[in-house]
Amino acid sequence: MTVPFSYYDFIEACGQPGCPVCALLQRDARRFLDSLLYEYVNKPATHAAFRASRALCKTHNSQLSQFGEQVLGIAILQAAALDEVLNIIAANPAQTPSGFSRWLSGGGKNGPAALADRLEPEQPCMVCRTLDEAEKRYLLTINDYLTDAPFEEAFRASAGLCLPHFRGALRQMTGPVALERLVAIQVDIWQKLKGELDSFITQHDYRYAGQPMGAERDSWKRAIISLAGK
Ligand SMILES: [Zn+2]
Ligand SMILES: [Zn+2]
Repeated sequence: MTVPFSYYDFIEACGQPGCPVCALLQRDARRFLDSLLYEYVNKPATHAAFRASRALCKTHNSQLSQFGEQVLGIAILQAAALDEVLNIIAANPAQTPSGFSRWLSGGGKNGPAALADRLEPEQPCMVCRTLDEAEKRYLLTINDYLTDAPFEEAFRASAGLCLPHFRGALRQMTGPVALERLVAIQVDIWQKLKGELDSFITQHDYRYAGQPMGAERDSWKRAIISLAGK
């Protein structure tokens, strides 16, 4: 059986701080946006998607600002989405003060809330859709390879999964041995983190003020990421 790319990707991501699945998805989002701006800015399908989903979701549209050297492409895609938004608003019949008053009292299917509904995205952010598929692939890789020694070792040495990805992995597990390892390793990692948090809290007590701190120094930061994902 050929080992998938996601196997090596996962092992490599285990060497980075934080949840390996989060790290891979962040990498994938960067790659997706990079290729979108380099190769797909002038494709009709990209414009249709930007119109239908009103640009990208908050996270990924904001992330575009990190691609400063691609400002022209960014401007073209934002202009398409904004054009769609303006077209939808222009289709609203109220133009005069009395028209707006009637519009407001009209409510229901024709009121301002209906315009708000029409302004909602008609389809999800294209980056989110791609990442959803990738996420599923990474979680299935955990199910398929956690019984493989190098894979297990890498996961054991990692910061563990974040809670959302632990939940996601649990939902994908089909093998009892891999499931047992997933739970055991994750619990070990979280117990260690909890111990570091307890130690951090104790050392912050005024009676211990000034005591030097070890690995627990940034445990609060790691816990934030471990519980909510990145
Ligand atoms: Zn994660
Ligand atoms: Zn998104």
